Amino acid sequence: MRDGERADDGAKPYTQVDLSVLVVGAGAAGARTAIELAERGIDDVLVLGKRDHGDAHTTWARGGINGALGTHDPEDSWEIHAADTLNEGHFLNDPEKVEAVTQQMPDRLRELDDWGMDFSRTEDGEPDQRFFGAQSFRRTAFAGDYTGEALLNTLVEKAQQHEIPYRENVMVTKLLSDGERSHGAVGFDMDSGEMLLFNAGAVVLAAGGHAAVYSRHTSRDDENNGDGAALAHDAGAELMDMEFVQFHPTGMAVDESDPDWEPWSGRLVTEAVRGEGGRLYNSEGERFMERYSPDQMELDARDIVARAIAQEIAEGRGTENGGVYLDISHRDRTFIEERLPRMYERFSELGVDMSEEAVEVAPTSHYGMGGVRVDGDGETSVDGLYAIGETMAGVHGANRLGGNSLAETVAYGVVTGEAVAERVDGPGTVPDEVRTAIAEPHLRGLQATANRDGEYEPETLMAELRGLMWEHAGILRDEESLQAGLDRLDAVRRKAERMTVGSMQSRSFEFALDLGFMLTVSEAILRGALERTESRGAHYRTDYTDKSERWQRNICIERADLGGMELSTEPVGEPSEAVRVALDEGHELDYHQLE
Ligand SMILES: Cc1cc2nc3c(=O)[nH]c(=O)nc-3n(C[C@H](O)[C@H](O)[C@H](O)COP(=O)(O)OP(=O)(O)OC[C@H]3O[C@@H](n4cnc5c(N)ncnc54)[C@H](O)[C@@H]3O)c2cc1C
Repeated sequence: MRDGERADDGAKPYTQVDLSVLVVGAGAAGARTAIELAERGIDDVLVLGKRDHGDAHTTWARGGINGALGTHDPEDSWEIHAADTLNEGHFLNDPEKVEAVTQQMPDRLRELDDWGMDFSRTEDGEPDQRFFGAQSFRRTAFAGDYTGEALLNTLVEKAQQHEIPYRENVMVTKLLSDGERSHGAVGFDMDSGEMLLFNAGAVVLAAGGHAAVYSRHTSRDDENNGDGAALAHDAGAELMDMEFVQFHPTGMAVDESDPDWEPWSGRLVTEAVRGEGGRLYNSEGERFMERYSPDQMELDARDIVARAIAQEIAEGRGTENGGVYLDISHRDRTFIEERLPRMYERFSELGVDMSEEAVEVAPTSHYGMGGVRVDGDGETSVDGLYAIGETMAGVHGANRLGGNSLAETVAYGVVTGEAVAERVDGPGTVPDEVRTAIAEPHLRGLQATANRDGEYEPETLMAELRGLMWEHAGILRDEESLQAGLDRLDAVRRKAERMTVGSMQSRSFEFALDLGFMLTVSEAILRGALERTESRGAHYRTDYTDKSERWQRNICIERADLGGMELSTEPVGEPSEAVRVALDEGHELDYHQLE
């Protein structure tokens, strides 16, 4: 590490860090990549996170992680897991990536078990597996309903054994790239304000997703705002499938005027509640999924259950707090406490006993299936820049199976870790002038953003943007509304030029940067949704309600030469023969075996 020179024109000094690999993000994807790099002998790696060590969004994952272990259902296989994933993704997934994940997962789960992950277990001591929506077999391994926390704890411990360097509370604000080749990244220390330039041989973006660009969402407000996708887009990489945003059917529906309940609005009620037998009722006491999906009932695909709930609410059969009821009170208290401990605890603290009464739920933004377009190794169209985990696109297609994103993080951590280990050999080799020519104007811009008086608070503009995304690019979309959403987004962008922002250590500074990322990602969602004139998976157009053969293509978005976004489409690949056979066998969940 060496101190950067003060630039001749007076830019604030920065610290330069030279290293082989920079991993941006310390959730499951970043941690697993770093472990793979360490195991392959690459030791000058740095993992960065915006929060304290161990506090990535992964810890919020609840219900489980998929892999065809066959604990209960030995007839399950990775090929059927791949077939379920492609079916649920409406065949917009990249089969190569789906197969890379599903084929590895039994080994990845056994590895996590060996590394000490606190899986819930069968009486024989095997990792237990539960049902999750739209999966043919019990394939979701879990640690109670705190699977993400148990996973990240295991990975962090393993990373510590390898003594992998980690730096917390650092925010990356720009990737250094000439559009063809990655040269590293810049950012700042959120505690001290120190500016940092990373000269890295390769950069792995594992910065999470973008589901929090909607007003009702399951993330924390300061996470999942699309940093990864926006950074990659700015660096010249392609985005893909941005129009596909998963609205989870069951977010908490609360009385927002009650200060005890208000912070919980939209927060996830894990699918595991339905996986363990939870039933949905409307305000008339009708188990309405019988009308929408008599075979798979509450465990049909997330898009179908979410639209069914939205329709019940829209047609006046919703609850007082704008939701429907989710009831698992037919299970006894010990069962619920054991299988859904965090859910039971959360509702108990709010005065609701799930073993006695139903809870209120409504759809909420949960996961962006789209993200950065990558090849089979996780590399973007910018040489040396990789994207994995929730930041990458390709595994989930038009809709994601619950339990598949944690699977993707660890499986792609290994794939990308291996690919990066094979290519890197120290820091970047371009002359320093090339890097500083991109970095220094940006760092000056960062300084100019801080300590500024203006008309608007960044947080207010974030709320405005989230509101318009919910209204114009939510569960039901049409051309007129999407176009109006783009116009409103432009207005927010103009207001963002007149923000009041504190010092580089302040929350308002972080939020001002977040808003920039959110504007990019939101525009990509709106443009992708406008372009896709059909309904498929999580993308539902009320003016084009059918699925169209013509749209069996991915929409890709690139930065246009003169600014703005350029859209194109690409055909989807073909599954392997083994997966084709599993698809032809037509496996599907029979919900009634649960009852
Ligand atoms: C409530 C909830 C429940 C879920 N339950 C499940 C489940 O049961 N099963 C399942 O498979 N999936 C589940 N998911 C999805 C799953 O948790 C995520 O997809 C997955 O954990 C993402 O991991 P990741 O490593 O890609 O990103 P994250 O865990 O989000 O980590 C991102 C990292 O990047 C860092 N970062 C972000 N931006 C920057 C920046 N600009 N500079 C520096 N660092 C940055 C963050 O600080 C963090 O360290 C759930 C999601 C939510 C919200």
